[in-house]
Amino acid sequence: MSDMLTIVEPATERPLRTIPRAGVAEVDEAVARAKAAWPAWRDLAPGARAALLREVAEALGSRHEELAVLEARNAGKPITSARGEIGMVVETFRYYAGAPERNLGETIPAAGGVALTFREPLGVVGLVTPWNFPLAIAAWKLAPALAAGNTVVLKPAELTPLTALRFAEIAAEAGLPEGVVNVVVGPGRICGQRLVEHPDVRKIAFTGSTEVGSSIAASAAATIKRVTLELGGKSANVVFADADVAAAARAAPWAVFDNAGQDCCARARILVQDGAVDEFLAVLEDEVRGMRVGDPLDESTQMGPLISAGQRESVASFLADDVSVAIRGPAPAGPGYWFAPTILHPVDPGSRAATEEIFGPIACVIPFRDEADAIRLANDTIYGLSGSVWTRDGAKALRVARAIEAGNLAINSNSSVRVSTPFGGFKQSGYGRELGPHALEHYTELKTIYIRTQES
Ligand code: NAD
Repeated sequence: MSDMLTIVEPATERPLRTIPRAGVAEVDEAVARAKAAWPAWRDLAPGARAALLREVAEALGSRHEELAVLEARNAGKPITSARGEIGMVVETFRYYAGAPERNLGETIPAAGGVALTFREPLGVVGLVTPWNFPLAIAAWKLAPALAAGNTVVLKPAELTPLTALRFAEIAAEAGLPEGVVNVVVGPGRICGQRLVEHPDVRKIAFTGSTEVGSSIAASAAATIKRVTLELGGKSANVVFADADVAAAARAAPWAVFDNAGQDCCARARILVQDGAVDEFLAVLEDEVRGMRVGDPLDESTQMGPLISAGQRESVASFLADDVSVAIRGPAPAGPGYWFAPTILHPVDPGSRAATEEIFGPIACVIPFRDEADAIRLANDTIYGLSGSVWTRDGAKALRVARAIEAGNLAINSNSSVRVSTPFGGFKQSGYGRELGPHALEHYTELKTIYIRTQES
């Protein structure tokens, strides 16, 4: 293998940058640096750690546009989306800068004395991230891990490492001590695997495919390493006939074609109640045909290319089957990994397109009869990440949202992720939660100390 890695711009297929590619030795060096930096970082006064995280947030904020352009070019995402993601990165650091000074424990009455609980940091944490929301997903892990007093080694996806590398420079300039954040760019099966197996790494926080997540969990078992997994999805967007059907249809494309469908929360199974299907499809068609697909740096672009030639091939394989294409949106010709947004209807709910995660701009419209049928179809998947329920009946909305086996539901909305609320999956979409107050639990161990107060 070459020891240099060429980063390609998906919208042009041209090289963007060439950087050194790490191997096992570089991972081991990074873990050693993180291990050496840990005691001082752990023991820093909570207020001082909080202040440094606020400095990092400010420094990222002052490079907002630079980072957004870099992300848009490297990942092929519209600049407006990239700006939103970098804004979320800044917010994530601001949010967790509040955590070191609120790392509260409990006192629990116990026979003969009292017990105290402490949330202790783990040590060196390995962060392994995908290419679809490169810096945003890294920040969801970096900020709580650092706030809790851990040091980290981040291994971004090889296709999109540029914002992670820039982050490390910015964090160092902002005053984060040497060795607290380390970024290693290299292949998952070498660098990622080494992090998972390394005896000095106490936890792996992973976002990526269910297949790789499963292999990480298996390898981590050898050292009883803590693991949190944010994996794939095949989420349902449930539209009842008593909903504002036009509003649901206008919103539906953005719930699946955002980021060109390369979104773990993509609501790629659009379940529409009998009686509303024709109206839904008519509005959906206008919306999909009117999508602006093109140059990520154009302010008016709504959807960019796929990440790579391989991803386009994998997505296209779903159209090779005997499927009915009901609607196709636009896509530019020429260089770039373009793929037109596509709606399949009718679709067999048991077919490959309706059951597998496509991770591209293809969605299925599937009719349902009644509430029970909608819940059955929504849950007929190995995944359980997100989903939506559209209806004007408030009690039904809550009933159905509670009945869907997924971690993140929205009612009359397709929102999935907020800095202040927990995010994560049921079933094979993973375990553990990111963001919100709960993420900190996954970057700490609970310690109990008993104090005997009774005189014998
Ligand atoms: P992937 O699983 O191929 O790779 C993810 C990361 O794991 C990369 O950094 C990769 O280099 C590394 N890796 C690969 N093999 C490894 C191994 N054996 N050991 C350790 N690390 C290894 O995923 P991807 O193609 O980059 O991303 C797409 C997938 O991510 C989709 O399935 C998507 O649903 C999922 N995803 C989930 C969430 C979520 O929060 N649930 C968010 C975004 C993406």
